[in-house]
Amino acid sequence: MAGVVVIFDFDKTIVDCDTDNWVVDGLGATSLFEELLPTMPWNSLMDRMMSELHSQGKIIEDIADCLRTAPLHPQIISAIKTAHALGCELRIVSDANHFFIETILKHHGLFECFSEINTNQSFIDEEGKLRIQPYHDFNFASHGCSNPCPPNMCKGLIIKRIQYSMSSEGKKRIIYLGDGKGDYCPSLNLDEGDFMMPRKSYPVWELIISNPLLLKAEIHEWRDAEVFEKVLLNLINIALSAEKKSPELLSMDWNFQPVSRLPAFPQVLQVPQSPLTMF
Ligand SMILES: [Mg+2]
Ligand SMILES: [Zn+2]
Repeated sequence: MAGVVVIFDFDKTIVDCDTDNWVVDGLGATSLFEELLPTMPWNSLMDRMMSELHSQGKIIEDIADCLRTAPLHPQIISAIKTAHALGCELRIVSDANHFFIETILKHHGLFECFSEINTNQSFIDEEGKLRIQPYHDFNFASHGCSNPCPPNMCKGLIIKRIQYSMSSEGKKRIIYLGDGKGDYCPSLNLDEGDFMMPRKSYPVWELIISNPLLLKAEIHEWRDAEVFEKVLLNLINIALSAEKKSPELLSMDWNFQPVSRLPAFPQVLQVPQSPLTMF
């Protein structure tokens, strides 16, 4: 296993839509959703919407069918498969829910690439209704974070837990990809040597560019699937090349050759002077 951990947001990062909206719109419940949205937190509303859809006769397979049509670009699929094949550890941190994510990843043959999915819990109850529960039970206690994180999930706390769990495994570099406001908190928790990939012109990018110096990680933006793949694979190669050069690995690696002689490794990119790198 390489010392690179890639952490993906899901909605508008892996899939090019918000899966909650995709299901609500796809199953014809948009107006009720909009009517109820001002009255309750988003996560509680999704649980309520699943109940409404169930009472309208929609079954779990209707929801799954709708999810299978969510847009997922072939270059995102190939980027994930390549990252996995290169030995990176892939994880998801998402404010969608387990059923939505698992259904979509399995449909595209990607589920096995991920070692961990951190998201809101879901289950099918005895009536066959999909239930969605908050990752963090905000009715019991607040997660206490002052960054723009929704009440049911602070992704920064999840990243801290991941970093803590990795701390005994030697130095690993994190590459984090996301688009939303909720991806800002984890970006602040990344360390020097990590990489943050915010989606250009989306809320997390706006927050980051308002003061890029608050991040210790190097920032590499992406706009679409093509740049997503190119930048992600470049950063993975940079991290893997640096790993190969590390003296402690050198002494352990019998087959070590200088990186420059290995055709499999593309040219290492220059580390940018500015924390914000444009692609
Ligand atoms: Mg997102
Ligand atoms: Zn937070």
